[in-house]
Amino acid sequence: MSAFKHQQGSLHCEGVPLEAIAEAHGTPTYVYSRQTIESAFLAYQNALADRPHLICYAVKANSNLAVLNVLAGLGAGFDVVSIGELERVIAAGGAADKVVFSGVGKTKQEMLSALEHGIRCFNVESESELLTLAGVAATCGKTAPVSMRVNPDVDAGTHPYISTGLRENKFGVDIETARRLYQVAHDHRALEPVAIDCHIGSQILDIAPFLESLDCLLALVDDLAVEGITLRHLDIGGGLGVSYQESAPAIEEYMSVLTAKLGSRDLELVLEPGRSIVALAGTLLTRVLYLKPSDAKNFAVVDAAMNDLLRPSLYDAWQDIQAVTPHEGESRHWDIVGPICETGDFLGKDRRLALSEGDLLAAMGAGAYGFAMASNYNTRPRAAEVMVSGESLHLVGQREALSDLWQRERIPEGPTS
Ligand SMILES: *Cc1c(COP(=O)(O)O)cnc(C)c1O
Repeated sequence: MSAFKHQQGSLHCEGVPLEAIAEAHGTPTYVYSRQTIESAFLAYQNALADRPHLICYAVKANSNLAVLNVLAGLGAGFDVVSIGELERVIAAGGAADKVVFSGVGKTKQEMLSALEHGIRCFNVESESELLTLAGVAATCGKTAPVSMRVNPDVDAGTHPYISTGLRENKFGVDIETARRLYQVAHDHRALEPVAIDCHIGSQILDIAPFLESLDCLLALVDDLAVEGITLRHLDIGGGLGVSYQESAPAIEEYMSVLTAKLGSRDLELVLEPGRSIVALAGTLLTRVLYLKPSDAKNFAVVDAAMNDLLRPSLYDAWQDIQAVTPHEGESRHWDIVGPICETGDFLGKDRRLALSEGDLLAAMGAGAYGFAMASNYNTRPRAAEVMVSGESLHLVGQREALSDLWQRERIPEGPTS
């Protein structure tokens, strides 16, 4: 059940009307429902109650400290892809020993820092990275816990920009390379092979590719065990899709088929869900600035733009757009566009709505890869972020001030021409 509902003619997040949020904090503003984040996390947690598991929330989907803090409080681990994300997790009260570190371009500095923090595991993506990690760990007298990210060469059937499990993608190593690298790690005194992982893409709407990947990983786990390399956890990655418009598998359904395949193996199951935890927990609240109806096309210019919410422009993603306070009037088809000087700057196309200037709109399903991908393009300050919990409203991300935007820039001294 959604936390975003119309009550007394106006869209609410849990017990708080979005109108009151716009009044208090202006627009554009991201609104997160704490209850929705918690229930998505608990859906994973409860479905796996009967076996050892760790849900490592993928920080890049939404890295706001308040979001991380809610999840840390529920016992979540975290999947990070930079040292910045690891520092955020720690600042939000997360535990380093529940962190897995993914990504194809970890620097030596990042490896050193992650080793010092005592993270649970490095998800290694290449032979060069493995050898570099071994060198860093040896120099500081530590043993690096490693997992090889296997690229199972499955087609996740998702958008090409967010498909990661095919041979031609830059991620992970093929299964035979992984097999060889486990031996390398096993033989190196500064490395300890502890796990195996994969991540085949994002917004995946069919469970079959996950199961195909799991089969591929389990075959290697079983072979390695025969060779005396016993792995402690298997990490199937993130990527479960959500219902922006299309229908997505339920978390419970996915978990039950996964665990059935794992059988009685003594392996901790690790998952790295991002989108499926936060996407539907967030909305982007924006106000209509101008209406430009014409014979060719009707445009509603709103105060949120592609710098605030990039998904529609980047992936041609569809997100529902709702009137916060629906009113009488002629409804038409509108393209909902932002103020940025790009034709690709839109939040939605051809949406049938009765609109007036000054109306509030809500771009739904904006909790994942929303604020996290925001930029300052066109020297626009990034939006405010609020979290609702029941009747209470908390500002969890202040709107940037204009003066913040060029504070790090310098004009060279002396003659410039
Ligand atoms: C992005 C990413 C995730 C999260 O993907 P979602 O589709 O948001 O669940 C998990 N693991 C890795 C390695 C990633 O890069």
